[in-house]
Amino acid sequence: MEPPVPAHSLIRSRPGSALTDFGAASAARLASAAPLVPPDAHAVVDGPGEAARDQARLGLYVHVPFCATRCTYCDFASGKLSLQTVERWKHAILHEAEMRAPVATGRAFTSVFFGGGSPSAVPPDTAVQVMAALRRAFAIAPDAEITLEANPESVDDRRLEAWRTMGVNRLSFGAQSFEPGELEALGRVHDVEAPARAIARARRHGFQRLSLDLMFGFPGHNEAAWRRTVETALDLGVEHLSAYAFIPEGGTPLGNAVLRDEAHEMADDAEADLYAVLEASAARAGFGPYETSNFCRPGAEARHNLTYWLRRPYLALGPSAHGMIAGERYANHYHLERWASALERDERPETSREAETADAIAQEILLLGLRLARGIEARDHDEAAWSAFQHRYAATLASAERAGRVERTAGGWRIPGHLRFVADDAIAWIEARAEAGRSSGTSARSARDLTWRASAS
Ligand code: SF4
Repeated sequence: MEPPVPAHSLIRSRPGSALTDFGAASAARLASAAPLVPPDAHAVVDGPGEAARDQARLGLYVHVPFCATRCTYCDFASGKLSLQTVERWKHAILHEAEMRAPVATGRAFTSVFFGGGSPSAVPPDTAVQVMAALRRAFAIAPDAEITLEANPESVDDRRLEAWRTMGVNRLSFGAQSFEPGELEALGRVHDVEAPARAIARARRHGFQRLSLDLMFGFPGHNEAAWRRTVETALDLGVEHLSAYAFIPEGGTPLGNAVLRDEAHEMADDAEADLYAVLEASAARAGFGPYETSNFCRPGAEARHNLTYWLRRPYLALGPSAHGMIAGERYANHYHLERWASALERDERPETSREAETADAIAQEILLLGLRLARGIEARDHDEAAWSAFQHRYAATLASAERAGRVERTAGGWRIPGHLRFVADDAIAWIEARAEAGRSSGTSARSARDLTWRASAS
């Protein structure tokens, strides 16, 4: 559910969103700039809000690579649950925490996120022990947001009590759909009532910040069913909603079926219509789209995910986890076996580690920032990062503004609200042209000539 991956891979709200993939339907929609939803649907939250931004400074991600069963669409690093593998994971996580602790010396984490896999499947005693060890290894701010992803069917009183003991103050439930047939096709093991039961239990245990994950655009999906799912989710009274478009991942049953043409993806326009339903329903319920795939009541933004989107540092532990801290990025071994074995040999459990380059920093500012409703803001980045961003994109952003694909704000740039669903296509357009400009030498020339920062700030 929460992807333990590099920040740029968090962008998964739209199929075919690779930087070079500029779909014809989306291009046509961008060209016509036709509104997807009525303008008043965008008026609720121009997020993320200031409090959330201030609290998203340093994140800690912990990947929990176990699931009771495998959903048909999912390619996240996750294996079968057994007491033996959970114990091995626990010891390796504790070892990795000690190994990585020096890089965070003197800094307090403002968020911790247990993602998976299914963190809720881990025995509660084990979860408590892991959290206690993390608190010994790292400084965790007293007001840190501590999120745990939970599958609705595994939420019981014993676990909720343990999670409260750990200091968990935010739960993110994977619901995906409220239609029985869809749950079955997606390989979910819970029934349509399970999220409501889990939410009610969590409220009884004092959890005030709850989120639901939904999925749309999978084979066979339709607008009427999606409307029912969204309305049901909003009626459950959560503070936060994430909605991701289905992406056919090779190697998964549903992804393979699509790739072999045995099942059919939704057309771009039909999927855009589903997003419009989501936006309009969310707006009526007082939820704003502070990020393309994430909606919340004012103040309920996910601090941890904001850490990624604002390109602030984060440490990551566990198989397949990716971290970015102290000017370097690293990627852990994908599989539990390799990751744990490396730690058991007292080696770094990484497949790669590299210093961030100016170009990579600039690309991430674009990729991540333009998905926020407020867009990219100069104040979020240090001088070197902002300079790299300007150097790469200033001229192209000016063209994109003239073409109506982005608009200026007091602090930078954003995607106009009515184009939010095709944000990734606008990003692809900008990236492709910036790259072409670099090849011809125009980008460097433009960057020298522009006084863009002064005018954008
Ligand atoms: S519960 Fe399903 S979607 Fe979540 S990580 Fe496991 S297999 Fe993937």
